[in-house]
Amino acid sequence: MSGIKIEEVVSTTKRERVAAHSHVKGLGLESDGRAKDNSSGFVGQKSAREAAGIVVELIRTKKMAGRALLFAGPPGTGKTALALGIAKELGPKVPFCPMVGSEVFSAEVKKTEVLMENFRRAIGLRIKENKEVYEGEVTELRAEETDNPLGGYGKSISHVVITLKSVKGSKQLKLDAAIYDSLEKEKVSVGDVIYIEASSGAVKRVGRSDAFVGDHDLEADEYVPLPKGDVHKKKEIVQDVTLHDLDIANAKPQQGQDAMSLVNSLMKQKKTEITEKLRQEINKVVNKYIDQGVAELVPGVLFIDEVHMLDIECFTFLNKALESTLAPVVIFATNRGTCRIRGTDIRAPHGVPTDLLDRLLIVRTSPYSTDDIMRIVDIRAQVEGVQIEDNALGLLGEIGGRTSLRYVAQLLSPSLIIAQTQGGRESIQRSDVEAVDNLFKDAKASAQILHAKADEFIYQ
Ligand code: ATP
Repeated sequence: MSGIKIEEVVSTTKRERVAAHSHVKGLGLESDGRAKDNSSGFVGQKSAREAAGIVVELIRTKKMAGRALLFAGPPGTGKTALALGIAKELGPKVPFCPMVGSEVFSAEVKKTEVLMENFRRAIGLRIKENKEVYEGEVTELRAEETDNPLGGYGKSISHVVITLKSVKGSKQLKLDAAIYDSLEKEKVSVGDVIYIEASSGAVKRVGRSDAFVGDHDLEADEYVPLPKGDVHKKKEIVQDVTLHDLDIANAKPQQGQDAMSLVNSLMKQKKTEITEKLRQEINKVVNKYIDQGVAELVPGVLFIDEVHMLDIECFTFLNKALESTLAPVVIFATNRGTCRIRGTDIRAPHGVPTDLLDRLLIVRTSPYSTDDIMRIVDIRAQVEGVQIEDNALGLLGEIGGRTSLRYVAQLLSPSLIIAQTQGGRESIQRSDVEAVDNLFKDAKASAQILHAKADEFIYQ
């Protein structure tokens, strides 16, 4: 995998679910915590946003440990958007992992395994390393020898001396003997222009500077100490990964890894099962990096929608997982009132056991006014690059008032198709929305039809 840059590592973040909320940049609060009318992509839902702002403060001041948040409210009232807003307020690189409770039910993977994986998707690690790059023309290249340390005949190489000349002057480097093989592999000789890359004081890569042809990574055990001295270039590399990225990349743990090679192995994407033992190994290495100051933990937000779909086994797991030092901020959401806790005969508020409920701060979200719906749809239209006329927006607001925000937001793209195909226009008019609303049914309208024409449907 030589030549691939660390910046190109693809993370395993669930992007598709976040796309619908791309307009959400934060919670849109004043410095005193009051919600602005329309800010950071947020409209209305003021008290929930203000409550979310207090939660951000609790997290920042480390007073949320072991606790979690529950958003309770009807579908499409911004619960996911609020959770994302909290993540954005915590910092630009804070991981946000959304999931739905029913995701845990899979024929192949254990429920607690699905939860654990998502926990680890929501915990970030920021790895920092100083990279030093020497680059120039080789004006001197020799191996210094010493008597064979094993006492036999012949000599062995003790170290390699290289002088590199660049526009900034000459630099003599005395490198450990292990570099010799790499120089041979690259067929480096006097007159060649090469670069030597090092980080954390060890040479990691040697190659030719002309288009970086034939460079190769040294294996961890080939790393050689780098002599102290001036450096030609110095840059700090910051790599943001999640614990789950590291689990995937290191499903076969290797010995003697340093922080960056742990990250580099992400590129190899091995498909081995992630075991509890592996996760413990990763945690150990991660804790070591944190102690050494090489890495910093960035706890993110795990958003579990439809929490009532989880069962008692999941709730037991969550109660314990919330206590861990490596826990993200967990935000649950539900639109259920009192219902049965799955896996038991017990009824409880939101279908959540009382011991977990006790840990939760509960925030209610309420349905939007017509005006709020119009403003939110307008924001979505701008983000999606869709032009919409005022009277069409007004109609969407009206329809949204009697159906849901989610439904009208979904009407934008079909309305544009009607505008383009039937009207030859790039801008949505009221008649396009009317046409689309006649073609599709929202959940309530569909239920009414079922009720009115019950004898036309098959019931078993
Ligand atoms: P569900 O219970 O069905 O999961 P939800 O309560 O999580 O729904 P969202 O998915 O957050 O609702 O909202 C639906 C859409 O409306 C999303 O695109 C979301 O970003 C947007 N949205 C919701 N509330 C607001 C708001 N107050 N301001 C701006 N956009 C919003």
